[in-house]
Amino acid sequence: MLGIKKSPWIIHYDASSCNGCDIEVLACLTPGFDVERLGVINTGDPKHADIFLVTGAVNPQSNTVIRNIYRQMPEPKVVVAVGTCACSGGIFRECYNISGGVDSTIPVDVYIAGCAARPEAIIDGVVQALGVLDQKWKDMQEFAADIDKVVYGKATKSNLPSILALEKIAYYRESELYGGGGDAGLPVETQTLVSLEADFDRMTCVKASINGKIVGSARGYVEAETAHILNISVHPYCQGEGIGQRLIEDLQKALLASTAKRFEIRLGHKSTQGAWLEKQTYRSIKTEVVTPTLSWVFYQKECVPPVH
Ligand code: SF4
Repeated sequence: MLGIKKSPWIIHYDASSCNGCDIEVLACLTPGFDVERLGVINTGDPKHADIFLVTGAVNPQSNTVIRNIYRQMPEPKVVVAVGTCACSGGIFRECYNISGGVDSTIPVDVYIAGCAARPEAIIDGVVQALGVLDQKWKDMQEFAADIDKVVYGKATKSNLPSILALEKIAYYRESELYGGGGDAGLPVETQTLVSLEADFDRMTCVKASINGKIVGSARGYVEAETAHILNISVHPYCQGEGIGQRLIEDLQKALLASTAKRFEIRLGHKSTQGAWLEKQTYRSIKTEVVTPTLSWVFYQKECVPPVH
């Protein structure tokens, strides 16, 4: 990580910029600012890049390229949206072919405002990105070292911002299975903190934490004697360690205390978790088409009431 901090490799992509912000990115590299003297390297290969600088708003063509570049970058990686268009769609956001800023298709870590963003602001954004990169690298090390020290418990309302951020990261790969780009049809793509807080009072929410950082969450509610289990999310650095399974078990126990007679979980039709659910005696009961690329498969199993 020391090497990366001293010499971060950057890949720059113009999503649909008017070229104003691109010129400012280039100005950072030319003799006026000359960030290469500080060790910053501009690379054309995503597999060598640590920081992804994107200028311009997202349209259908650039959406695919942005996701391709992002997918090829090794972890940990940081995305920087440069300029108002990349942050929010800017003056182009109402155009028929613009889906919004960069965060409408991939997770963004640093936003640099400005039309055009000034070179000083871009350099400052790269310095901020290095801080984010360092934190992600520390998280990777910490989660790997302390994966056997996961603490489970009920989530509180104050945990919701962390849970929302976790869900967006955890469901990114799932969304890619169904076309990605922010419009695969998964509820997490449009979930906001306001809607999550509104849902919280009618839901039971559980979490998994490592050293106080939330790395897993799931929530559920009971309606018409059916306990619905939703949004089972595990941080990508901690997947494959049984955290999702334990969260489902904890949620099932919590929901059993109510009037539930069966549990229900829905999965996207391309999910690989269906076989695991069937091992847990869940049975597929129906399929519902959501979008041309996504269908929900519903799994149910009967509750076994607790013995008192
Ligand atoms: S923020 Fe301004 S300068 Fe940058 S791409 Fe958009 S319109 Fe052009």
